[in-house]
Amino acid sequence: LTASELRREPSRARWSIEEETEVGILVRDLSKHFGSFRAVDNVSFAVPAGQLVALLGPSGSGKSTILRIIAGLDSADGGGVELTGEDATALPVQRRGVGFVFQHYALFRHMTVRQNIAFGLEVQKLPRPDVAERVDELLELIQMSGYAGRYPSQLSGGQRQRVALARALAPRPKVLLLDEPFGALDARVRDELRSWLRRLHDEVQVTSLFVTHDQQEAFEVADQVIVLRGGRVEQMGPPQELYERPASPFVAEFLGTVN
Ligand code: ADP
Ligand code: MG
Repeated sequence: LTASELRREPSRARWSIEEETEVGILVRDLSKHFGSFRAVDNVSFAVPAGQLVALLGPSGSGKSTILRIIAGLDSADGGGVELTGEDATALPVQRRGVGFVFQHYALFRHMTVRQNIAFGLEVQKLPRPDVAERVDELLELIQMSGYAGRYPSQLSGGQRQRVALARALAPRPKVLLLDEPFGALDARVRDELRSWLRRLHDEVQVTSLFVTHDQQEAFEVADQVIVLRGGRVEQMGPPQELYERPASPFVAEFLGTVN
């Protein structure tokens, strides 16, 4: 199933995308089994280039598994992944051009904020002055220019996740994958970071897939929402559409709407 087939078969994808839409992430017929248990069951969807899309579902619905497969941290039993039009199914994680931020994907504790953000750039063998310039740019982007020399232990939880995001963005990834990045933070900080992420995304416009089990978070942050249930796609669409026309009682109930 290619991007253009997906366009022709919206029912299969359960997602109608315009013919001219550029696709940032394409997941086709993805499945993953653990023993006889189907954690991911024939999942297909497309994330339009430059959008921020939420993958929303209750705990255990397969969100992290899908994200890990897209990142190349785990392999699928069936199906494939295309990133900005290139088949990435067989590529190792380092060659996929993905940046990721996980709830517990900790910063390097023995490195300063600057060193943490520079890490991926030094791996890419970018010349030193360019590394410094890029790090400064990112520090500004996350509004933490005064924190370059601090260690992670000297930062708040919210600041750490901002640095983790800068580190993920530093090598200019094709796509950004976020797995409950604010899940460990308290409600007030989480709220702040949500709206901050939305503003940041408007500025950077990197294709992003944001995993969350929190409906409100998905609705506040995302251009489109994919609702997962038991390893299957239940519905996809802009928040407004899901809210007004839930495709099933499950979606209605999960979103807290009444059908
Ligand atoms: P979510 O992120 O939506 O909470 P996951 O993708 O982590 O869900 O997990 C989906 C399902 O697959 C869960 O039932 C989980 O217990 C199971 N699962 C995930 N990873 C493994 C694994 N390595 N071995 C066995 N079962 C797993
Ligand atoms: Mg998870």
